[in-house]
Formats: sequence, C-alpha cells, structure tokens
Amino acid sequence: QAKALGGNQFALYQKDMNQQAKSQLLLENDLYKALERNEIEVYFQPQVDAKTLKPYGAEALVRWNHAKQGLISPVQFIPIAESTGLIIEIGQFIIRKAVEETEKWHKMGYDHLHIGINLSGRQFANDNLMDVIQNVLSHSTLPAKFLDFEITESLAMSNADHNISVLKGLKALGVSLSIDDFGTGYSSLAYLHSFPIDTIKIDRSFIINLETTQGQAIVNTILAMANSLGLEVVAEGIEDDFHVSYLQSRNCDIFQGFKFGKPMTSTDFTRYLAENAK
Ligand code: C2E
Ligand code: MG
Ligand code: MG
Ligand code: MG
Repeated sequence: QAKALGGNQFALYQKDMNQQAKSQLLLENDLYKALERNEIEVYFQPQVDAKTLKPYGAEALVRWNHAKQGLISPVQFIPIAESTGLIIEIGQFIIRKAVEETEKWHKMGYDHLHIGINLSGRQFANDNLMDVIQNVLSHSTLPAKFLDFEITESLAMSNADHNISVLKGLKALGVSLSIDDFGTGYSSLAYLHSFPIDTIKIDRSFIINLETTQGQAIVNTILAMANSLGLEVVAEGIEDDFHVSYLQSRNCDIFQGFKFGKPMTSTDFTRYLAENAK
C-alpha cells in the first residue's frame, strides 16, 4: 500500500513542481511590471528605545501589492527580484521612498527618527550602490546618519574581506551599518571586530526561545560580545512583556517587534508617531 501510494505521491509531487514552476514564472513576469504599476510599496515597522519604549525609528520593509494575489511577502519575491536583477531598480525605489518618508517625519518634528533599509546580495555587490545612496541623500535634507543599512550576517561573512571595503565606502557617506539576522550565520569574532558596523540585530529565532535557559544563554552571549565590541544591539521579534523586561535588564538598546507594531503603511506610521512619540 505504501509503495502504491508512493508512486502516486511521486506523480503528485511532479505535478506540484510544475505548478510551482509555472506560478513562479508568472510571478516573475508580473514583477517586471510591478514598479511601473505602482504595486511596490514600502511599509514601516516601529523600533523603540529599550529604556523609554518611545519611538526610535523604523525598519523599511517592502511589500508587493499584486493586482490579483494581493500582498506578497518579500520572502517570496525578493529571491525573484535577485535572480532577475530587478532588485537593483526595486532597491533604488525602496531607498528613495524610505528617505522621502523619513525626511517628511523629520520635518513634522520627529527629527530623531532613524530608518533601517535592507540591502540584498546583488544590491550590495552593485557598483552603483554608493552613487545611488549619495544621489538620494543629495536630494534630501535628511542627515546621512539617520540612514541605517542592514546586511545579513551570512551575506556579510561571505567574502568578508571584500565586504569590509564596500562597507567602509558606505560608512564614508556618513550612514550607519547593521548586521541583520545576527546569530544565524557564522561570524568569527576576529572578523566581526574588523567590520565597520554600528549595530547588530539579534535574529527573531533567539527571542522566540528566550523563555528557555539555552535561549537566554545565546542572547546573553550576543549581548556581552556586542558590548565588548562597542556595538549597539537591536532585538527583533519582541512580542511580549517578558522579552521586554529580560532584555531591558541586560542593556539591549532597541526593540522591534509586533509588541510595538507590525510593519505598516507610511500613513499608519505617521499616526503611530502622533500616538506614541509624545
Ligand atoms: P528582516 O530584515 O529580518 O525583517 C524582519 C522581519 O521580521 C519582517 O518580515 C518583520 O515583519 C518580521 N517581524 C518583526 N517583528 C516580528 C515579530 O514580533 N513577530 C513576527 N512573527 N515577525 C516579526 P518581512 O517584512 O516579511 O520581511 C522578511 C524579510 O524579507 C526581511 O527580514 C528581509 O530579509 C527581507 N526584506 C524585507 N524588506 C526588504 C527590502 O526592502 N529589501 C530587501 N533586500 N529585503 C527585504
Ligand atoms: Mg532587516
Ligand atoms: Mg544608530
Ligand atoms: Mg532580521
């Protein structure tokens, strides 16, 4: 019986793969048109100061508002954007949009707000990245130091020597730099020390396990290491009071998570500021 089923399952599996490949291809085709159709939108997730729990800034998180499928997660379409090269154009749009909105909030009086912007592998490797950032900043009154570019730990550590020189170039523009999803890659302490970064973002998977002694041990180790290297620490995925009190007592600097807000439109983030920044 199992064998017979197995045969069927294989057939099903193949059909599944075809379906998947097809819908992937359709999505890819649509992605070429997404920007001009105004379907790419930047959302903002609050980050708060760990001591005061007042707004510190936001992380810009891209969304694809697909005409037929509705909101598509970046987890699903960033890889397509990467493989097609569309990430360069989409990435420029995200940087421009994030800076525009943050400049607007600064002008409204929230002039301490920081903005985190994710850079993917291909964007980071692109020779024009510096020019793009410089260009956007030259058309804005937003001081560079409020821009915080995030690259994942695994991206940072692949070809580390080369990346250090790219990061130094970015640093020279006056922007700040973060290592995202920290703890999920393989950093050597020696390397981390030579990276010109300001911040590490503890990956959400470790915050989820903060109730366990093992989870606590990992988070404590990351905090101690960041502290000794003089790095600021953002904890991602803060969802409850225990996360807050545990990390407050251990000098984590910034919190980000559903407890303070999900990623939201810029209009909603403006409202969030009005309600929380007083
Ligand atoms: P990331 O940069 O680590 O972003 C944090 C992700 O964790 C976001 O998912 C956010 O919604 C989610 N998150 C934050 N707090 C919580 C929480 O308390 N609970 C739970 N369950 N989730 C939380 P999102 O927006 O789906 O983005 C996923 C990933 O897609 C990002 O991970 C990043 O790697 C990538 N991404 C998103 N926006 C961009 C972008 O503009 N450019 C690039 N290159 N990548 C992006
Ligand atoms: Mg990020
Ligand atoms: Mg900073
Ligand atoms: Mg992350």
